[in-house]
Amino acid sequence: MNVTRLGVLTSGGDASGMNAAVRAIVRTALDNGLEVWGIFEGYRGLIEGGDMIRPLGWRDVGGVIHRGGTFIGSARSEAFRTREGRLAAARNLLQRGIDGLVVIGGDGSLTGADVLRREWPDFVRELEASGAVEPGAAARHPRLVVVGLVGSIDNDAAGTDMTIGADTALHRITEAIDAIGSTASSHRRAFVVEVMGRHCGYLALMAAIATGADAVFIPEDPPPDDDWERRLVGQIVAGRQAGRRHSTVVVAEGATDRHGAAITSERVREALSGGLGEAVRVTVLGHVQRGGAPSAFDRTLGTIMGHAAIETVLSGEADERALVMGMRGNRAVRIPLEACVADSRAVNECLSSRQYARALDLRGPGFNDSLATYRTLVRALPRTPREGQRRLRLAVLHAGAPSPGMNAAVRAAVRLGLDDGHQMLGVRRGVHGLVGADLVAMDWMSVNGWAPMGGAELGTSREVPAGPDLYAIARTIERESLDGLLFIGGWEAYETAHRLFEERANYPAFGVPIVCLPATIDNNLPGTELSIGADTALNNIVDVVDKIKQSAVAEQRCYVVEVMGRRCGYLALMSGLATGAERVYLHEEGVTLQRLVDDLAVLVQGFSSGKRLGLMIRSERANDVYDTRFMCALFEQEGGGLFDVRESILGHLQQGGDPSPFDRIQATRLARLGIGRVASEALAGRAPAEFVGMVSGMVEFHSFEDYVRLVDAPNRRPKRQWWLGLRTINEALARPAPRGAVRDAPLPR
Ligand code: ADP
Repeated sequence: MNVTRLGVLTSGGDASGMNAAVRAIVRTALDNGLEVWGIFEGYRGLIEGGDMIRPLGWRDVGGVIHRGGTFIGSARSEAFRTREGRLAAARNLLQRGIDGLVVIGGDGSLTGADVLRREWPDFVRELEASGAVEPGAAARHPRLVVVGLVGSIDNDAAGTDMTIGADTALHRITEAIDAIGSTASSHRRAFVVEVMGRHCGYLALMAAIATGADAVFIPEDPPPDDDWERRLVGQIVAGRQAGRRHSTVVVAEGATDRHGAAITSERVREALSGGLGEAVRVTVLGHVQRGGAPSAFDRTLGTIMGHAAIETVLSGEADERALVMGMRGNRAVRIPLEACVADSRAVNECLSSRQYARALDLRGPGFNDSLATYRTLVRALPRTPREGQRRLRLAVLHAGAPSPGMNAAVRAAVRLGLDDGHQMLGVRRGVHGLVGADLVAMDWMSVNGWAPMGGAELGTSREVPAGPDLYAIARTIERESLDGLLFIGGWEAYETAHRLFEERANYPAFGVPIVCLPATIDNNLPGTELSIGADTALNNIVDVVDKIKQSAVAEQRCYVVEVMGRRCGYLALMSGLATGAERVYLHEEGVTLQRLVDDLAVLVQGFSSGKRLGLMIRSERANDVYDTRFMCALFEQEGGGLFDVRESILGHLQQGGDPSPFDRIQATRLARLGIGRVASEALAGRAPAEFVGMVSGMVEFHSFEDYVRLVDAPNRRPKRQWWLGLRTINEALARPAPRGAVRDAPLPR
């Protein structure tokens, strides 16, 4: 079926990233010759009609990507639950020739669209018979095509790893708990923080992991018995005795005990203040969790999902049944709407019938993995080693530039190692410490409070050892009786581990298990799709670019922003997607003079027809000859005075700051895998040298035997980079609309 005119609406609770989705939907559609009409205020606007439904042009969705909430408005509509309401909605769509609908909302909103889709053929006939729509409408619009995007801060949808808005909410919660932590620590206090999430414990659990909170209560995992209040107090007291200065307990709004009775933040407060004999504060985070600028992830998620929605409409796959766009392992996937809603609701049904194990199972392996790790990390002290157990001596170290999340990874590795009964050692200053035998014993409390900390507390180094350093490292491994090494770092960490692996014949001491965890903002390592730190860097870039854009509203100006990554364009492309840059320059694609001249022509055309701001993002080493300064000079000189050009080299601020929640969670997860592998292999008497990562949502270990085959060494990046597939989206959204498209419809109110 040929849909030529689509409606887009946002419905239910608003979520950050919805604007990015609407922008991508409108621009991808225009780019493919489809028209998009914005339906303002959700289903309420659809029923009301009039100017609540109006065309959206290319420029109407400019300048919205960085805004929280939804600029086309959202609402709940009781009328849409009635047949008359939906009949009125169908009439409004038909009168405008719209027979495709993209809905961004939660399961209620998606269900509503599917109900309308099923009733559509009857409605069309009825409306035609009554003369409410023109004769022939039924033949022209035999069906309504429905495609959904899940917008929900709760991350409660089945079939997608993340819903639009959840990551931003996690940012707000994490910022708040970090802030509470610093004041709580000053006063040795206990705090209870209540977070949203309806029936889903995702936000609470992930926030607890990211902030290192002392306890968490979530709907899927109620306390095992009725004695939870006493045990909670015991745990907090033990933590204090071990030296923790403050205690934070996170409570999900839907948390219950085994009998289904609510565990409210107030109940937790009473338990704690009674047990501890002191005042305990409650913070209910409420709507701050919904608000604020969308995170980099939610902007790219909304963008990718919005683009995928239009491709789905064009593919014809949604002609017979409604489909929902989901994200699995960094890839957009199509899921039948009915299944998505049914599976999401199945978890709620398990919870209300108190089948908690089943509910947890339905949440999937990532959630369960995180819960298991969390339970270990927050113990006041490690378990006592089992009788007769072999205690390994395992060393943790960094190499490469500091990357946000490194501390969270060390904390997790150290605690999980100790909890398994091993001795954990931290190597100071990276490879230098290995050469100079600068090791320190790490105990449980030595990593207390490290989860939110930026930088690299252990220190790091940029050298790859050679010659006599290798001999010194072998001596250190022998003298310290090290049974395994865990590297947490970037390119130099991988190079170093690879060298140790290759030199095993010369230095038998290197024959211990060696595992590398990817930790670099550049995201240029093989065997993983994302490295620890890249998400923080992206958020840092996006923050600054938002500010740069604001500073330029008055003049006609083009910014050329240079971001890190050397010859790996990940940060450039993803920040381009997240900020709506019109051009992204990558070393992977190459930069030619001809292309720069073409881009200049586009700029000149844009500025002469009223454009006020240009934004180009380049990867720092996209081209060594046509560097940032050259590009700026070219654009300025040849721009005919229409606009001025400013360069902005972001530099080290990209590496700094507190790690994002995702980086902390990813660090924790990978550290668990990494240290688990080193220990189990050492105990089994094997000595693999490997790097670990996540590919398409699955954990992968690769042997260093494959390292050379997987990397493009001169350019310091993997040979295959999954994200290069996203370039087309950036191009489609940055390109001006094709001729004949609706460009300049009135701006929304
Ligand atoms: P969410 O989409 O976030 O789950 P709601 O459940 O409140 O939020 O649904 C949003 C809107 O979607 C409702 O106000 C209503 O207009 C519509 N809706 C929800 N469920 C249905 C349904 N079963 N049939 C028709 N419309 C529905």
